Amino acid sequence: MRISSFSIHPVAVADPPLRSSYGRHAPYALRTILVLTTTDGITGISEAHGGDGSLAALEAVRPLVEGMDPFHLHALWEKWGKPSTQGDRSQTWLVPGENPHDARTRAFAAVEAACLDIIGKAVNQPVCDLLGGRARDAAPFSAYLFYKHGGGGGLGPDARDDEYGECLTPESMVRQCRQMIATYGFREIKLKGGVLEPALEIETIRLLRDAFGSTFPLRIDPNCAWSVETSVHVGIALQEELSGGGYLEDPTSSMEGMAQVRRQLLAQGIDTPLASNVAVTGLNDVVPAWGEDAVQVVLSDPHYWGGIRAVQRLSFLCEALGMGVSMHSNNHLGVSMMIMAHACAASPAMRFACDTHYPWQSAQDEVLAGGRVKFVDGAVVIPAKPGLGVDLDMDQVARLEERYHQLPYRKRDDAEEMRRHVDPSWQRVLPRW
Ligand SMILES: [Mg+2]
Repeated sequence: MRISSFSIHPVAVADPPLRSSYGRHAPYALRTILVLTTTDGITGISEAHGGDGSLAALEAVRPLVEGMDPFHLHALWEKWGKPSTQGDRSQTWLVPGENPHDARTRAFAAVEAACLDIIGKAVNQPVCDLLGGRARDAAPFSAYLFYKHGGGGGLGPDARDDEYGECLTPESMVRQCRQMIATYGFREIKLKGGVLEPALEIETIRLLRDAFGSTFPLRIDPNCAWSVETSVHVGIALQEELSGGGYLEDPTSSMEGMAQVRRQLLAQGIDTPLASNVAVTGLNDVVPAWGEDAVQVVLSDPHYWGGIRAVQRLSFLCEALGMGVSMHSNNHLGVSMMIMAHACAASPAMRFACDTHYPWQSAQDEVLAGGRVKFVDGAVVIPAKPGLGVDLDMDQVARLEERYHQLPYRKRDDAEEMRRHVDPSWQRVLPRW
């Protein structure tokens, strides 16, 4: 069996004006759908980050993929060329999906997922069962809360309903959380911070704890918006709220900054775990992060870590080092939803609920045949179908691809959106507080 066709579809997906320390989300998020077909007539699908960078990285590997045997993933990786260890591979300044230093690793992840989908269909097994057998039948996800402006994403006649409404206060965040949990049944809560004054974000977490109680673990992620001093202040203030299965995610930038926060919190008798998807972005970073005790929970991602098997390797490495492992998310569609669910199911040490942006996208923007992935008690059940267990609606892919070609932008730039809509002089400053 050989790959006979390699088809790349850039798509644009309506996205509400969500806020983070990077700025504000644009009206459409960019993604890429990959379809591989074999000489046996089996189709494998995948989803990757979007825009010109992703498309160029995938185009560049087309000659390696066309004609390959989809079972020979190690041989493919050998030919791929090792990822560069030069340059800033952190996500301090560039959002995931925009860093040129891991573009080739991200392209491998996309191809690997499509090959695993093909292999699963060829042997009639779900992807997670190809990789040592599933550690769980359903992948739990967290309620991923965002401060946001009014609006549901999209533009003009293509605008979406604003399902959750404006949310720029602690009180409105509790409403957002209630609504999301009522819809999806999530059992863990993540707040994207780094948007309001730290005192207001502390108040938000306290209101969430009051509203949902200690059985819902809480985490906050300001994407490096805070100094070491502010991070320690927040860690002390939220000592109780972030305990019991929660964590403090990337409060400040750099491995050294994280290690300083950790030392100062421990000196106060506070051992709230620090999580990271900014300082730690690849397997090479894990042992240094462990050695400096800068990070206690590593946030995997089956897109930029290099695939589902890379997440599984990370899970075993973290377990051996006594570190926790969880999963980062970007805006994504249903194909990535299933890639993430299979990565979680195949990673025994993944004991935190994973992040997902899925609630922020609508059925109107789904590319899966049969509609959106369903959640049961906050988890995605692994389908009893081979491969990833989902198929594409190619008419819908074509509609989203047409919309992509109508857009004036080809990369994610949240700072530019802030200047356009909120403050013409806005710049990303780290630390902001
Ligand atoms: Mg993060």
